[in-house]
Amino acid sequence: MDFELNDIELDVIRTARDFATTQVRSRAREIDQTNRFPADLAKEMGRLGLLGLHMPEEFGGTGLGYKAYVLAIEQVCAASMTVGAIIAINALAQESILRFGTHEQKQRYLPALISGDSLSTFAFTEGQTGSDPRAISTTAVPDGDTYVISGEKTFASLAPAACVAVIFAKDDSGKASAFLVDTDSEGFIIEGELETMGIRGEDVCPVRLKEVRIPRSSLLGDAGQGYNALLTAINVGQLGIAAESVGVAAAAITMSLDYARNRTVRDRPMTDLPTIQSLLGEMSARTEAARWLTYRTADLKDRGRLTGKDSATAKLLASQVVNEVVDMAMQIHGSYGYTKELEIERLYRDAKVTQIYEVVSEVQRLIIGGSLARES
Ligand SMILES: Cc1cc2nc3c(=O)[nH]c(=O)nc-3n(C[C@H](O)[C@H](O)[C@H](O)COP(=O)(O)OP(=O)(O)OC[C@H]3O[C@@H](n4cnc5c(N)ncnc54)[C@H](O)[C@@H]3O)c2cc1C
Repeated sequence: MDFELNDIELDVIRTARDFATTQVRSRAREIDQTNRFPADLAKEMGRLGLLGLHMPEEFGGTGLGYKAYVLAIEQVCAASMTVGAIIAINALAQESILRFGTHEQKQRYLPALISGDSLSTFAFTEGQTGSDPRAISTTAVPDGDTYVISGEKTFASLAPAACVAVIFAKDDSGKASAFLVDTDSEGFIIEGELETMGIRGEDVCPVRLKEVRIPRSSLLGDAGQGYNALLTAINVGQLGIAAESVGVAAAAITMSLDYARNRTVRDRPMTDLPTIQSLLGEMSARTEAARWLTYRTADLKDRGRLTGKDSATAKLLASQVVNEVVDMAMQIHGSYGYTKELEIERLYRDAKVTQIYEVVSEVQRLIIGGSLARES
């Protein structure tokens, strides 16, 4: 076992950290307050190569792998989870196109999604379901050389900035298939972004598909095999969410230390209090465990050995850790942390979504437990 990051991975950390501290940190509050998508920062991440660390060089990526992907997300999320999560959300369509797309589909979409010239959205969730492909009601009806897609997706992050959407719909086989839908297609209607509690500015939008006609060649992978594309993409998305969690937890520790060092209790810095040291110790230990589990899980993906159980484990643990850590950080900040004056309240709101999106924690536990139960 090698627990050392190599020089290239350290370079990725430096690039992402430099971008986060010089360009993102000062914008985090404004993005949260205005709920406005930071298009310029997304573009800059493309320019710096942060959107294509795990993508092959053939399509404009750097081919450094999934460990580099999680390292970059962690660093950027320490400054703004909204900005860092763009990498992980965009990776959902990237991954499905890379693993299930034809060469033509890869050539058509991947370069722009890696350079940041455009982004992608990945729309599965509907009013009645966030994780059950059997329950989706969006349809894709074959009509000659085309499919006609109709339905409503309730949460599609990055939709207004996306050139392409991966849409899950039931075809004539009655099973879910994945389709690549250009967002400028007639009938692709973005209904306006939602007001979310955290990761504000991610442009999470309901999307209406009003008889959107797409060529048959827009099918992604085989008909009726949408679930495979969904799981493959979600495994990488969950790795990203584990990294988001580690980044936010690390930021909460830094903020807590800064606050406690500069506040006095009975003429002594608050950091002298055993209760504060105990909280900091707990926060640090839990974050370190989540960090190394995330790196190890990314390493499994790099070695082609990642299972759904592994990515569920990393996301379950890291999302739990970040929620515990921001809660402890809030306690250290006292009432001031509970106001909008200090940044910790944003982290508190941002952290919650890690236990909800891309499979709720309750289902993650069942995936892990079910997998253990089936092991001989
Ligand atoms: C900020 C944000 C961005 C998002 N972006 C996207 C996006 O880009 N694309 C997209 O497709 N979706 C997106 N989503 C949607 C998100 O992925 C789903 O909402 C999520 O998967 C949960 O699905 P649900 O809301 O239907 O919850 P439900 O499935 O209704 O679950 C609600 C609760 O019911 C319980 N529960 C449900 N099922 C089970 C079960 N099988 N066993 C035990 N308990 C269960 C759990 O307690 C769970 O917390 C986004 C959501 C948010 C908040």
